[in-house]
Amino acid sequence: MPMYFCPLYSGSSGNALFCQYGSTRVLIDAGKPGRAGEEALKGIHVDPESLDALLVTHEHSDHIAGVGVLARRYGLPVYATRGTWTGMGQKIGKIPPELCREITAGRDFYLGELGIQPFPIPHDAADPVGFRLWGGQLSVSTATDLGHFPQSVYERIAGSDLILLESNHDPDMLRANPHYNAQLKQRILGQRGHLSNESCARALLYLIGAGTGTVILGHLSGENNTPELAMQVSSEALRREGIQSGRDVLLQVALRDRTGKVYTLQERNNA
Ligand SMILES: [Zn+2]
Ligand SMILES: [Zn+2]
Repeated sequence: MPMYFCPLYSGSSGNALFCQYGSTRVLIDAGKPGRAGEEALKGIHVDPESLDALLVTHEHSDHIAGVGVLARRYGLPVYATRGTWTGMGQKIGKIPPELCREITAGRDFYLGELGIQPFPIPHDAADPVGFRLWGGQLSVSTATDLGHFPQSVYERIAGSDLILLESNHDPDMLRANPHYNAQLKQRILGQRGHLSNESCARALLYLIGAGTGTVILGHLSGENNTPELAMQVSSEALRREGIQSGRDVLLQVALRDRTGKVYTLQERNNA
C-alpha cells in the first residue's frame, strides 16, 4: 500500500502538510486561513470532509491560523501537546471539547492505519514537536522550526523514506535585512529559532547516509532566503560528498505559496 505526502504550503507565511496511508488522511498544521487550506486540498483532489485529523506542531500563527475554522467546519479532531493547547488558547476560537485531543512528545499513537510519533524540537514555543508518521514499512518525517539539529531529532527521523526538513534562511541575508530588528534576528539565529540553509545541508548528509531517499526543503523565509539559494547550498554539500541529487536522492524545495506535488512512496517488496 503506498503512502502519499504533499506539502500544501510551507514557509514562514504558513504551513500545512498532507499525509495519507490506506484510508487514513491527516493534515499537519493549518497555518493559513481556513479557505486557503480548503483550496490547497481541493488542488490535490482531497475533500476536506475526508480528513481524519489535524495534527499541530506548535502554537505559532504560521501553523495554526486555519486550525479553528477547519476543525469546526469539518468536525476534525485536533491533536496537540498540552503546551501547544495552552499556547493556542483563544487564538483558534472555541473548539468543541470532543475534538480536543492531547498528545505527549515521545509517546506514539495510532490514527486509523497511520502510526504517529510526536518528538520534541528545539524551538521557542511552549511544547513544540515534529512528527514521524508510519504505515507498513513506510515512514515520513517532518522537522521544521528548529533552532539547531540535535542528535535527539536525528534519532527520531533517521531512516524515514521521506523527510521534510527546514531550510529557513541564509544567515547573511538575515543579518543584512533592514526590516528585522536586532532582537528578531537573534531569535531566528538562536538555538531555539530556525534552521539555516547551512545547518540543514549538514543534517541532510547524515539523514541521506541513514537511507532517506527523498528530502524536501521547507519552511523557507520569504525575506531571508530564496528557493534557488536553499537548493544550491544543500545540493553543493551533497555534491562534495559525491551524492548527486536526482540520481542518489531526490532533493526538492517546498514553496511558500504554491501547492507542492504529491509524493507517492511505495513499499519495496509489494506482497
Ligand atoms: Zn514556530
Ligand atoms: Zn513556523
